Amino acid sequence: MDNGKDKNYQEELNKARSEMEMFYDIGNAMRTTLNLEEILYIILTAATSHTGLSFNRSMLFLVNEKENRLEGKMGIGPDSAEDATNIWAHIEKNKIGLEELISVETQFDHLKKSKLNQTIKSIKILIKKDSGVIALTALEGVPFIINTSEAKQKAQDSFSTLLDLDEFVTVPLKAKNKVIGVLLADNRFNKKPITIDAVRILTMFANQAGLAIENSRLYEQTVVLSNSDSLTGLWNHGYFQYLLGEEIKKSSLAKSYFTLFLIDIDNFKEFNDTYGHQTGDSIIREISKIFRDASRKIDIVARYGGEEFGIILPMTKKEEALVLAERIRKAVETSPGLKNITISIGVASYPTDCTTKEDLIAKTDKALYEAKRSGKNRICV
Ligand code: GH3
Ligand code: MG
Ligand code: MG
Repeated sequence: MDNGKDKNYQEELNKARSEMEMFYDIGNAMRTTLNLEEILYIILTAATSHTGLSFNRSMLFLVNEKENRLEGKMGIGPDSAEDATNIWAHIEKNKIGLEELISVETQFDHLKKSKLNQTIKSIKILIKKDSGVIALTALEGVPFIINTSEAKQKAQDSFSTLLDLDEFVTVPLKAKNKVIGVLLADNRFNKKPITIDAVRILTMFANQAGLAIENSRLYEQTVVLSNSDSLTGLWNHGYFQYLLGEEIKKSSLAKSYFTLFLIDIDNFKEFNDTYGHQTGDSIIREISKIFRDASRKIDIVARYGGEEFGIILPMTKKEEALVLAERIRKAVETSPGLKNITISIGVASYPTDCTTKEDLIAKTDKALYEAKRSGKNRICV
């Protein structure tokens, strides 16, 4: 009898030890980056990896406070039972550990192909009582285990079919006592029952994950703030230079292309002299808004200097860019809030016009000068 007790005790000890090792490993992994995408990837990989919590699939939703909704951010797991068998056989055979699984190089093409990930990213759930279990988890800040027919009946999540859910668990992700998201995990493929023990570990894990997410968000906010121009909220000069360099690197690697605008307000000195610097500032702000509204999400809009702006248009050839340039020029010319204000735009494209950053800026600047010289309120290439 004593032997049995010893054995139990030993088992408990071993379990506790391996849990502690796992948390240590995951914690280390999460400390390697402050990039939100990477953090989410590490969290979901830890929840699904063999050496981690070993759920079959895990999915993550983050709270968007402004919209009062949960937004699907990432989902990790096989798309089919066949896919699952292959992946696990591969991991087993090659003895791939957590550290290797989360290595950043492997993640993106894996995620791009994943149907689950695409589905998750399309999901938006209003945070209210009748929106289903995922919303309830955020609302009440407690886990839900959907593992009995009764619970399934009650759950009735409108996303059950979309996500092919049967038995699953949801846990809130918390940071400083605030729910910032929800983690959902299941064993869709091996159908292993979800135990209380697994939920206990997942909940501990979720607290660690919530803090890591919050940290990386704070960090990203700081990066945004410190690289923004305070008058307009656009990217500042330094960050624009950095992003332009990055765009060249990206385009050169992907054999892609982009177009650059340099924009200068016409006769602005005169305007300032007539109406005062403060009115001038409000014009700069108004114009920034036009640029922001006219550009696409992928475009990079910056305040290049005092009354000069730069716009990077990724994957845009010159002909296409010229259409946008004309739209912007016209919008400024005809804006009721910008009476008598016009702009000149210089345009150059990578790699057709030049292949280095300095050369690209010089060419665009030359085009801008040409626009000024030939009468202003126009676009030159
Ligand atoms: P051009 O058509 O040749 O561009 O004539 P311009 O008078 O606009 O000449 P330039 O671009 O060289 O002059 C820039 C002027 O813009 C100088 C300054 O009065 C004004 N300016 C620059 N930065 C600011 C700013 O932050 N706020 C305000 N209100 N005015 C600025
Ligand atoms: Mg100027
Ligand atoms: Mg000017």
